[in-house]
Amino acid sequence: MFTPLLIILSLFSLTIPSSSSSSADVCIIGSGISGSSVAHFLRQYSLTTTTIAGIHMFDRHPVVGGRMATVTIAGETFEAGASILHPKNYHALNFTHMLDLKVKGPSPDDNAFSLGIWDGKQFLFKTIDSKSKSQVVQYFVSLANSVRMFLRYGISLLKMTSFVEVTVDSFLKYYESKESRPIFSTVEDMLKWAGLYNLTTHTLEDELVGLKYSPLLIQELITVITRINYGQSVRISGLAGAVSLAGSGGDLWAVEGGNWQMAAGLVNRSDVTLHLQEEIESVTNLGDFYELNSTKGNSYTCQVTVVATPLDELNIQFTPVISIPKRELQHTHATFVRGLLNPAYFGLNAVSDIPELVGTIESPELPFTCISVLKEHSAEDMTYKMFSRQSLTDALLDQIFSIRKETLRIDWGAYPHYHAPEKFAPFMLDDMHLYYVNAFENAASTMETGAVAAENIARLILSRLSGQWPQNSYGLKTSTSNSNLQHPEL
Ligand SMILES: Cc1cc2nc3c(=O)[nH]c(=O)nc-3n(C[C@H](O)[C@H](O)[C@H](O)COP(=O)(O)OP(=O)(O)OC[C@H]3O[C@@H](n4cnc5c(N)ncnc54)[C@H](O)[C@@H]3O)c2cc1C
Repeated sequence: MFTPLLIILSLFSLTIPSSSSSSADVCIIGSGISGSSVAHFLRQYSLTTTTIAGIHMFDRHPVVGGRMATVTIAGETFEAGASILHPKNYHALNFTHMLDLKVKGPSPDDNAFSLGIWDGKQFLFKTIDSKSKSQVVQYFVSLANSVRMFLRYGISLLKMTSFVEVTVDSFLKYYESKESRPIFSTVEDMLKWAGLYNLTTHTLEDELVGLKYSPLLIQELITVITRINYGQSVRISGLAGAVSLAGSGGDLWAVEGGNWQMAAGLVNRSDVTLHLQEEIESVTNLGDFYELNSTKGNSYTCQVTVVATPLDELNIQFTPVISIPKRELQHTHATFVRGLLNPAYFGLNAVSDIPELVGTIESPELPFTCISVLKEHSAEDMTYKMFSRQSLTDALLDQIFSIRKETLRIDWGAYPHYHAPEKFAPFMLDDMHLYYVNAFENAASTMETGAVAAENIARLILSRLSGQWPQNSYGLKTSTSNSNLQHPEL
């Protein structure tokens, strides 16, 4: 409803372009981990230079967090999108501690979590399941499972850990001190500096074949992991593949109550004017500032505009038109079911014979990529999460489940559809102050890579606003062919 008071208030909410070059208003489109991290790092790094005036953040949804979101089933909260963090995701860890959030680590039962690899007709591989609460029993079960895996996949299993460790170690360069770490103007330069670029030039499969991994390991276990984490096969880039494998190790964690609280906390402490349920439909370069128009009919002006969402499925009208490489998003359909799996669907006699995590190999007949037990409420009442590339029909779900009390479906434009060699959009969408954090998602899409890219964008903005650019920057230097920058032999 429009009242005179509302009209007056909305006039005051319009930002006025600042005439001073030392103080800029920033508009951020997207309140996920990338947008909220940009706001956080802008505030943190501009403490001494005070180059940032107001920060306006827009989200078309009624809540912050983007792809960090939860669902509630049977009174319990579960991650619906981004769920797990790696122990060396240091920005996420810092945010969690700084915001007084609680880390939810793996539970002792997770050691005995059973895995099955399903090909649509049979389980190709199954770990032993243990319902025992005894730590000793669980220890021996997990030992027996390691032996079983070793017998099936051989010595290559050990190589898997070292491939992931080398990649994670390279990534750790992004946490080095600002004094020794350049500001990057392109994704390519950012990846080359850390020794990660080469991994984006070929597929995970090619990388692993080159490293003499056993074909069975690649076709089964590794495919299961890339399908779970990126909904795609081992034809994704080597870097996205390594990140995906890192997300299958031990000591993974999450924020208790929901990872979205990181975004909420960062927004709260960064003096941000938050505009929820306000979709930006156009961004126009008007010389010294940008005009953003929203679906609510409002207009905002900022000297700096940050796009913190993938542009691939959006209809934002940029004037002048921007040009970025075409990229498809991989859709992942998350289906939550409260009920009970049907053992007959898997050719088994009892529900207890179905592994708690059913992963799948690449096969056109398979309608889902994975099913996992999120919670056992009782022997006859469980909550499951399924991922699939297409939406699952009720008819199919009625074959897979013998009991289905509640079903919840989310269609995520989840992450880039990865290719090799990968093409990257620019961080700077024009030669003024229009920035794109999610250009980095083509390297790998995670909460942490969002925060790492956001930190670089915040530094890029501040250095360009203060006229220091290109000092201490990497992107405009011509020579990047230092042999130290190549990816180490794996
Ligand atoms: C099913 C699934 C599982 C995943 N699992 C993991 C995992 O286990 N671990 C991990 O680290 N990562 C995981 N990811 C990836 C992770 O979620 C993303 O990489 C990360 O959350 C991206 O954050 P972002 O802020 O860049 O984008 P988003 O979270 O997508 O935020 C963008 C925001 O912009 C808003 N927006 C878009 N257009 C407009 C507009 N025109 N105007 C205003 N607002 C707009 C959107 O509403 C959204 O809130 C998963 C993703 C999915 C979908």
